[in-house]
Amino acid sequence: MNDTMNSFDSSTTSPTVAIDLRAVVANWQMLDALAPSAETGAVVKANAYGTGMGTVAKALLEAGCTTFFVAHIEEATALRGVVGDGPTIFLFHGVHQTTITPILENAITPVLNSMYELKLWNAAKPNTPCAIHIDTGMNRLGIQMSELSAFKEASKSTDIMWVFSHLACSDDPESPMNAIQLERFFKALEYWPDAKASLSNTCGIALGNAYHFDLTRPGIGLYGGGQSKTFIPKAVATISAPILNIFEADQSSPVPTVGYGGETPTPAGQKLATIALGYADGSLRSLSNSGFVFLKDVKCPIICRISMDLITIDITNVTQQVSILDRVEFLGQHAHIEDQAIAANTITYELLTGMGPRIQRTYVI
Ligand SMILES: *Cc1c(COP(=O)(O)O)cnc(C)c1O
Repeated sequence: MNDTMNSFDSSTTSPTVAIDLRAVVANWQMLDALAPSAETGAVVKANAYGTGMGTVAKALLEAGCTTFFVAHIEEATALRGVVGDGPTIFLFHGVHQTTITPILENAITPVLNSMYELKLWNAAKPNTPCAIHIDTGMNRLGIQMSELSAFKEASKSTDIMWVFSHLACSDDPESPMNAIQLERFFKALEYWPDAKASLSNTCGIALGNAYHFDLTRPGIGLYGGGQSKTFIPKAVATISAPILNIFEADQSSPVPTVGYGGETPTPAGQKLATIALGYADGSLRSLSNSGFVFLKDVKCPIICRISMDLITIDITNVTQQVSILDRVEFLGQHAHIEDQAIAANTITYELLTGMGPRIQRTYVI
């Protein structure tokens, strides 16, 4: 399957990503098993972290997931078209004047983040279910702890079925913020004793039972990131790119170097290959001289500044025959997403959501 409409097959000369849907489902099931007392939803915002919202949501729906989370209204309405009428779709960005109509028409459940949104929702249509988001310490979106009684007062006729909060430091189990936010969340829940509660993202699930409540909201864990002591996800995205050139650098300049800026010296005898992948495809420039790919099971360092369309790697250690259009793995079973994220000085989320439009998507079912 591929979404370009060419009359020729460009997959051999393009970067591609193979999305393993069985791995997505297996990751969802693992996270579900880690939080047995809670329902496990699926966060599919940002095109399911770059992996393709429609296809991924269908696979999760078939596996038994009936609650989805998105950030934007256009994600919510597109998702409703994919999953049909049954599943609950929460909209993190809440309600605004221009989004009331599509929210109501598509039976989306907004997550109200402020008194401003509460007033809009109250005026929109009485007794329509919503969630609210309490800011327990992230200081990003949400109702502040000091506003709780006023918010409660103003929401007497509002159908608040869900109370959410979000952890700021769940990727660090040792962080004291986790327990602080948990305690504040309990305080907030006292205001809405009949509502259901949801606190945890992927890493929050790994913090243990106390953090699970009624519903969990894993995102990155479904897509192969969010690794922790308790959760080792299966790799989902395999990004590969073809070799366009195999060579040794011309040694006649005073200091032969590779790529823009001329900052990476290349000695005689070093075998180089240049691949059709660049920052326009999401291989971040911060991987310059620090990232890697795998070629025939051998780790090959990136030895240049990343260009828009090209990267040069050192293949000296590859003993097998290497040919033009052989493919290297940039992310996958060998090129582990957590390691590549560290090399890029970023997080797995950014590597996935940054996958560029030139990368051809295929699905492994
Ligand atoms: C994105 C998001 C999540 C998912 O977080 P992961 O770390 O990807 O599991 C959960 N809740 C909220 C409010 C989010 O914005």
